[in-house]
Amino acid sequence: MLEKLSDALKSGIKRFVSAIFIDEKTLNALVNDIQRALLQSDVAVDLVFSISESIKKRAKEEIGKGHVAKEYIVKIVYEELVKILGEEGNKIDITKKPIRILLIGLFGNGKTTSAAKMAKFFQKRGLKVCLVGLDTFRLAAYEQLVQLGDKIHVPVFGNPKEKDAVKVFRQFEAETKKFDVVIVDSSGRDALKQDMIDEITNVAKAVQPHEILLVQGADIGQAANEQTTAFKKALNISGVILTKMDGTAKGGGAITACSVAGAQIKFIGVGEKIDDFEEFEPKRFVSRILGMGDLDALLEKAKELAKDKAPDKDMEKRLMSGKFNLNDFKAQLETMSKMGPLTKIMDMIPGMGMSGIPKDMLNVQQDKLKKFKIIMDSMTKEELENPDIIKGNRIERIAMGSGKEQSEVRELLKQFDQLRKMMKGLKGKDLQKLAKRFGGKMPKMPF
Ligand code: GDP
Ligand code: MG
Repeated sequence: MLEKLSDALKSGIKRFVSAIFIDEKTLNALVNDIQRALLQSDVAVDLVFSISESIKKRAKEEIGKGHVAKEYIVKIVYEELVKILGEEGNKIDITKKPIRILLIGLFGNGKTTSAAKMAKFFQKRGLKVCLVGLDTFRLAAYEQLVQLGDKIHVPVFGNPKEKDAVKVFRQFEAETKKFDVVIVDSSGRDALKQDMIDEITNVAKAVQPHEILLVQGADIGQAANEQTTAFKKALNISGVILTKMDGTAKGGGAITACSVAGAQIKFIGVGEKIDDFEEFEPKRFVSRILGMGDLDALLEKAKELAKDKAPDKDMEKRLMSGKFNLNDFKAQLETMSKMGPLTKIMDMIPGMGMSGIPKDMLNVQQDKLKKFKIIMDSMTKEELENPDIIKGNRIERIAMGSGKEQSEVRELLKQFDQLRKMMKGLKGKDLQKLAKRFGGKMPKMPF
């Protein structure tokens, strides 16, 4: 789903993150890449323009405030994308029961399929669900719904002999009251014309739905704005289900168009199967297409750390020259353990994989960090400053004092030594790059 948009955005961000400095040129290149990606996904031109302007404006402000870390800029991109997708609060409230949901829309957009998918969605959440087939217009509409309902063991109410949808509903109204969620399928038309408006208006009067959801295919791209606006005006829809997100490159256009039309997307259909259905949550959605983990959480932590620690110029110098000692190592471990599991942190940082750090170095586990810290607590000041003197007797004493094995003390020394060698091999600008990633304050050990 939306692979093209996702790939294009990701490669733009990757290019940006791998640049050494943020300047006007790299920022413009990033914005251009985002523009191209959005336009290819059929997002309306004026919207693309306004999001580019916001990104540029906010990025310059952040840089002006001294936030040179690229994460801040990537975070702005993320936030602006979330903004054009309609922010939060799309969930259907099912505290009152039964809740009735009426699905409407043109022929072939996926009403009947979505009715069954949604039934399964609520059923999985432990709710008692029934389906009501009020498509009396299309032949075999009722049978299609029964087939789908049977598959998921959800009762289906309908009467293929009755042509009046309101009468069908009245026939089963009392029975539907025994359920938590009542999903009502309705009949479509080729286009939104008066007879459809009249029929749905009557059905809505009878059903008294808590939600009227417009079901439309994402393949119409930005035309979803016009269509959603028309349905909203004529039938007072409360939200949208965007189907067929799996088979189109125009999904980005459709999603943003709904948002522009002032309609919340409640669900997206991502395939023909009954489970190919998801609640739409803009933040999660954007994180996914940008291919980043929880950027918010990472930035929060990076901010806290920057607050915690003043820049340590001496340590930076020692790092740059490869002359750092166990004290530095210890400080790094403390910072690291506050950040959470290492591999997870690396995943959260876009482009981190590109700094050429061996993968197994990343796999140092959290408890090992703790163990190392305990061992170092049993070292003398002299030993911490000058690790090369730690041999034979000293190893024995440190192991005893910390309650660890001598082999564990040796392992720590070995890891430290490996790192020292690796740091020597890193160029100064790589180190600065790493330091900047973490708010520009703390130079980080790349392991
Ligand atoms: P209705 O006329 O609005 O009730 O539409 P249907 O529910 O009968 O669906 C029309 C066609 O669209 C069917 O072939 C469905 O399998 C297909 N369809 C519905 N939703 C999706 C979706 O999310 N992805 C894909 N690929 N096909 C879908
Ligand atoms: Mg149908």
